[in-house]
Amino acid sequence: MMKAADRMSSIPFSGIRKVFEVVTRREKMGEKIIHLEIGRPDFDTPRHIKEAAKRALDEGKVHYSSNYGIPELREAITKKLKEDNGLSYDPNSEIIVTVGANEAVLITMMGLLNPGDEVLIPDPCWLHYFYCAQMAGAIPVSVPLREENEFNPDITDFRSRVTARTRMIVVNTPNNPTGAVFSRSVLEELAELACEKDLFVLSDEIYEKMVYEGSRHISIGSFPGMRERTVTINGFSKIFAMDGWRLGYVAADKEWMSALIRIHQYTTVCATTFAQWGAVEALKGSQAEAVKMVDEFDRRRNLVYGALKGMPGILVVKPMGAFYIFPNIRGLGRTPQELTEYLLDKAQIAVVPGTTLGEYGKEFIRISYANSYENLEIAMERMKKAIEEI
Ligand code: PMP
Repeated sequence: MMKAADRMSSIPFSGIRKVFEVVTRREKMGEKIIHLEIGRPDFDTPRHIKEAAKRALDEGKVHYSSNYGIPELREAITKKLKEDNGLSYDPNSEIIVTVGANEAVLITMMGLLNPGDEVLIPDPCWLHYFYCAQMAGAIPVSVPLREENEFNPDITDFRSRVTARTRMIVVNTPNNPTGAVFSRSVLEELAELACEKDLFVLSDEIYEKMVYEGSRHISIGSFPGMRERTVTINGFSKIFAMDGWRLGYVAADKEWMSALIRIHQYTTVCATTFAQWGAVEALKGSQAEAVKMVDEFDRRRNLVYGALKGMPGILVVKPMGAFYIFPNIRGLGRTPQELTEYLLDKAQIAVVPGTTLGEYGKEFIRISYANSYENLEIAMERMKKAIEEI
């Protein structure tokens, strides 16, 4: 009997996408649902970025680029990494422009992990780390992010899960779904562990610019001894509202790049060429709209946090980054899945059950505040009413 590959048996369809599909179906039947499940900005891509891509199309930039990406974009990324993150890379051999940060995660894991290797992943998390590790034949190992530490990693949790097979640590700060921004001291402890046990670190920094109340994003690859073992991943989807453009990048020592580039070559070849020209403009042009967007996210964050704090049965940690908030719903006596369905039926709002975000998401739901202030006000009012009726 013919069947799909064994490796796919443990890889489910994305839980978040499932929510999205249910919601879309109900909308088609006429329901007006407020989307709080989405993981992308609700803003349009800034105009000057679109213009640059249009110009590139008109100028005939319609062919394959170098597998690494157009040199102009690699130069701009190198400059950005140096100035913003204190990371030094060679634009010719240590940067690959990818089809979103998604591809960057996949080629990193496929390129660096052997079957049976273990990957320590802070959990709850963006589950792609789990499934990309599994597609590479590796074994994802959950390490809890605890509410009592404001979702910062606890190094003892990491240390207790290290075995002879551990090969990589995943770091995602600012964090999806908790909104935590990992502190310098926590990152230093993780770096020390990586050096001591000779581990790779995959650092996904896609939300780096979305930080609030003076909290600072720090790149773990900038610490002593970390350059040679860290793969830094970033992209354009969030801060430039370019998620449909599918552009990300990976920066790492050239020693590792030779493996990563071959997977990239045999899968995507290169990211879309004219889109890359838009990304050059995103990095080099005015940042005014990006700054405005972060200010607006901050306003929404305060609104949603304040509203959730006033709801019975809900505990909430104030997020310092990204555009998610991750309330604990244990006090409501419902599972995240039940509460998600209840909120959809009763309040016409869509959220994500924490159970779809890892083993340690069992008591939580994820709310994305990538929706307008007005919609968020209505959503919070409806949610409060629905919850008071439980
Ligand atoms: N990393 C994290 C932590 C994310 O939340 C997301 C998007 N949800 C991505 C990466 C994906 O980014 P891209 O659109 O660049 O593939």
